[in-house]
Amino acid sequence: MIYLDNNATTMPLPAVVDAMAASLRNDYANPSSVHQFGQSVRHSIECAREQVASLIGAKPREIVFTSGGTESINLAIRGALALRPDRRRIVTTSVEHSAVLRVVEQLEGEGYSVERVGVDSQGRLDEPHWSEALTEDTALATIIHANNETGVVFDVARFASVAETCGAIVHIDAVQSAGKVSIDVSSMAAAFVSLSAHKFHGPKGVGALYVRRRTRLAPLIVGGSQESLRRGGTEHVAGILGMGVAAESMRSEDPYAEVGRLRDSFEEAVLGAVSFAHVNGCDAPRICNTSNIGFEGISAEAILILLSEAGICASAGAACSSGSLEPSHVLKAMGIDERVAHGAIRFSLSRFTTRSELDQVVKLLPKLLARLTVLSSSARS
Ligand code: PLP
Repeated sequence: MIYLDNNATTMPLPAVVDAMAASLRNDYANPSSVHQFGQSVRHSIECAREQVASLIGAKPREIVFTSGGTESINLAIRGALALRPDRRRIVTTSVEHSAVLRVVEQLEGEGYSVERVGVDSQGRLDEPHWSEALTEDTALATIIHANNETGVVFDVARFASVAETCGAIVHIDAVQSAGKVSIDVSSMAAAFVSLSAHKFHGPKGVGALYVRRRTRLAPLIVGGSQESLRRGGTEHVAGILGMGVAAESMRSEDPYAEVGRLRDSFEEAVLGAVSFAHVNGCDAPRICNTSNIGFEGISAEAILILLSEAGICASAGAACSSGSLEPSHVLKAMGIDERVAHGAIRFSLSRFTTRSELDQVVKLLPKLLARLTVLSSSARS
């Protein structure tokens, strides 16, 4: 198998699996229990909190553990707005992940006005529109850092400070960027930053929300007093420890140094081998592991099926939208030609991707596409 779907999820590191197995096997006490066994588990959670905080330049007490990126996003957006009833406007972008899109849509249904700032053909944010959209009545600005479909990176530090100047609370969806791009929340105007462990070789079902010191937040899940009353419920201890190990490894190793070079030569080789291939967002700053390539006139679903038969895992746009024939909202927002958008495949690499794997994909692609071209022209005739 050649796994090129790392923006959907990554393989947990062996050290993550070991830490989780040890936790499940041995350290099963409830971290809220006062006995020593419980307190040793509490101590492990606090160590993981330090590891996750260090990844983004935060203080440990600014980290709230959650069940993943989606919950962090919901908690930040709803939790912030609940304490801001005086302002009823949200500013976001047209290329957010569905976790942000859906909660913002819900809020729109509840009477908030929403401004979605667009992007250019390379996926770069319309900066003048972002500044104009941020009016004095804006409660919240929420913006994605690295796009999950194209890898395009927004200069969130700059956009956050524009937003904060007009008094908006800022949330950054850093689910795809954490670990790949250096993030220092201490020098950013963001009150909230969402993270998810399974995007950087940690486990699924665990994430974190950075909540800047002294930022008020209404919890979404109430119950016990866990996470300093910001997220009730007994902690997913093994997951949290796994996230800590993954964060530590991303911070200490610079695992992505080689990935960008591999991605660039992969794209060059695909463009050389397939005359109707287009790399979406290639002129914008991008995270180093993501390559969104549109094969003009060929259906992405058909390409994915043949890739899968050959043991190659990739995605059409976001994983959660594959299976639907609608072209991705991100490529639509970029104004990508429909024939290219319909054939767009996202190849996402990891630190474990090798040159030989990519060479095999490049070798296979022209043959696979030729088969599909024949099939689609005979279907037309
Ligand atoms: N935000 C972005 C940019 C993502 O790519 C994803 C997952 O694909 C999420 C949020 C949701 O994260 P999770 O899968 O941990 O809920």
